[in-house]
Amino acid sequence: MKKITVNCPTCQKPVDYVPENEYRPFCSERCQMIDLGAWAEESYKIPVTPTAEDLEHIMDELDEQSGSEDGKQQSIGYRWQ
Ligand SMILES: [Zn+2]
Repeated sequence: MKKITVNCPTCQKPVDYVPENEYRPFCSERCQMIDLGAWAEESYKIPVTPTAEDLEHIMDELDEQSGSEDGKQQSIGYRWQ
């Protein structure tokens, strides 16, 4: 039986295009949601809007970073300026 494989439009992972996959052509519900959100906002920038709590958490992490000089700040990907 021939299997059709497509690439997930969101993350480009190969996806089996079968009826059992209810999220086809996406690989997962998450990727489907990201794509729908992207269409709704006409952009692929940020799928989720950070809440005030998220921002607080990020600010906390930045505070911890600047407080230590052990080089750990290099491994954290936030650029919040
Ligand atoms: Zn995907």
